Parts: sequence; structure tokens; C-alpha cells
Amino acid sequence: MIDHWARKRQILMALADENFVSGEILAQLLGISRTAIANHISALEEYGVDIYSVKGKGYKLVNLVYLVDEEKLTAATHNRCFYFNELGSTNAFLLKHMDELKSGDICVSEYQSAGRGRRGRTWFSPYGCHLYTSIFWSFPQGMAQAMGLSLVVACSLVKVLEAFGVSGLGVKWPNDIYLNHKKLAGVLVEMSGQTDSECNVVIGIGINMAMPNAQGDAIGQPWSDLSELEHKPSKTDLVIALQKQLFTDLRLFEAQGLVAFMVRWQAADLFLNQAVILSMASNHVSGICKGIDDKGAILLETTQGLEAYVGGEISLRSAS
Ligand code: ATP
Repeated sequence: MIDHWARKRQILMALADENFVSGEILAQLLGISRTAIANHISALEEYGVDIYSVKGKGYKLVNLVYLVDEEKLTAATHNRCFYFNELGSTNAFLLKHMDELKSGDICVSEYQSAGRGRRGRTWFSPYGCHLYTSIFWSFPQGMAQAMGLSLVVACSLVKVLEAFGVSGLGVKWPNDIYLNHKKLAGVLVEMSGQTDSECNVVIGIGINMAMPNAQGDAIGQPWSDLSELEHKPSKTDLVIALQKQLFTDLRLFEAQGLVAFMVRWQAADLFLNQAVILSMASNHVSGICKGIDDKGAILLETTQGLEAYVGGEISLRSAS
């Protein structure tokens, strides 16, 4: 029996040429009933794919859906790649299997039912619309060696996206990548390990490629995606490039620390020399953003002088 995802992928491929395709043609192509086609279509809609369905014409994708070519991905990297159609989250998968992993191993999923941001916030992850990936890395010298890691990953993302021709990128401390001042991608670092011995981390990355309408409406802040890009990268090429860049950057970070990334961070820092507010639970601090220090703390010029803030509970917002 053919896996239901294989069927759904066949349907998405048949709809990839941007014209309406009737239920009858789809049924013939796949050798299944029209009712089965209709069921797969409505399941795909539940997985977040926007599909026009017009009586007498058939079905048509609202946005193109980007699927990873697993064979090409696996052949292109020396590390292990775990590829799924659906998962709770790519971070959760790698965290669960941490003991069997080597630095550089990655997980990619076309859909996340429980994609997450910091502090348990939701990361919207509709099927095939965006890139959701995680990479495992082990820092031999413990947690202190991993401080500032999300900033390094943000720098890696900027480098990869720029190489694919994306301009207008910027980073927001400590974990977001913006395109034209709207959130394009997010990074979530999750750790396990003691402070002084080996520290194992899983780095989750979500990059928006083509946001479906309903999902976009549900995000409570301005967002962007790569849909306006003239030459859109294939998702497979994007994952391969990202894995390679992360491998290079994480090794550099391991050897030299955050100092090696200061120039790259500063060049992309959206809030450098701007008035910002840092929120920490019920506490707020205002000041002028002066970049970061070599531990990854944000530097703020306040009425008390230059202060450094670091911690997973801090959110940065523009003061204007
Ligand atoms: P902070 O400044 O504290 O990082 P944040 O709002 O950027 O705040 P994150 O935890 O980094 O929080 O990301 C989760 C938030 O990102 C969600 O609460 C939602 O507002 C937004 N979001 C969720 N999914 C997406 C997506 N696919 N694209 C862009 N933004 C998203």
C-alpha cells in the first residue's frame, strides 16, 4: 500500500504547473477514486496548504509548495539527514535522539505540528510552505563555550540567504532574521548538558518561503517570506547550503568564540545605535543599542551608562 504522504506529494506535484487540474484527471493520474483525491486535498488543507477548489475546474495551488529532494540532500552531506513529511518538531526529534548523534547531523521536516519559538511560543509550520530544520552540535568545553550561539546561527543564515540573492536582511538580537523589517526566519537553541563538561545543543531554524494566507493572518507580528524573490532557491539547495555554512561557522565559533562573528553581526544588526526597549518579565529597560559583547550580551547605553544584558527571557523591541 502506498503511504498517504506519497499520494499527497503526487497530488502536489500534479498541481505544480500553476493551472487548475480536475479531480478526474488527478484520479486517473494516481489511479485512485475522485473521493480519495478530495479527501487528500482536504487533509492537505488541514496541514496548512492553500488550495483553490472551483467546481467544474478542479484544484489549483494558491502558492507553490516546496518539497525537499531527500536523495539529493542525503547525497550532498557527509552527516546524517533525518527527513520527514511530518513531525512534532525537528528540535524535539533531535533532542530525543541526542545520544546517537554527531555534530552536524540534521533533521528536516515538511510540517511541524508543534513548531516552537522561545518560551513555548508557536512557530507556524504549514506543510511544504517553509523550511524547518535542526542541526545537532556538541561543544566539548561545556555550556560556557556555547554562549552567544543563536547570534552565530543568525549570521550563518544571513550569509546563506545573501548567497541566494536575498537583500534587505537584518538580525534582531538574539535569534531573529528579518527581511525588509519583517520577520523572515527564527532560531531556537535548546541545550542539554552540564555547565563544565560536554554541552549538547540542538539548533532549530525556520525560514519562511511562501506563507499561506490563513497562517500568515494568525501570526501576531509582521512577517515576510521569500516569495518575492526573482530566483527562488530550491528548498533542497537551501538546506544543503545552510548545513555546510553552519558546519563551517560552528567550527569557527568553537575555535575562536563569538569574537570571530562580531563584524558580521554588526553589519546585519537592525537596531545598532537605535533607541530600543528590553522587556524582562514585568521589567523594561530603555536605551540605545550599542551592539553585543563577546559573550553575546546586548549592550545598552542607558542613563546609568553602558549595560550588558543576556538571558533567554529578554525580548528586544524598537522604542519608536
Ligand atoms: P523575541 O523578541 O522574544 O524573540 P518573538 O516574538 O520574535 O520575540 P520568538 O519566540 O522568536 O518570539 O518566535 C515566536 C513568534 O514568532 C510567535 O509568537 C509569532 O509571533 C512569530 N511567528 C510564528 N511563526 C512564524 C513564522 N512562520 N514566521 C514569522 N513569524 C512567526
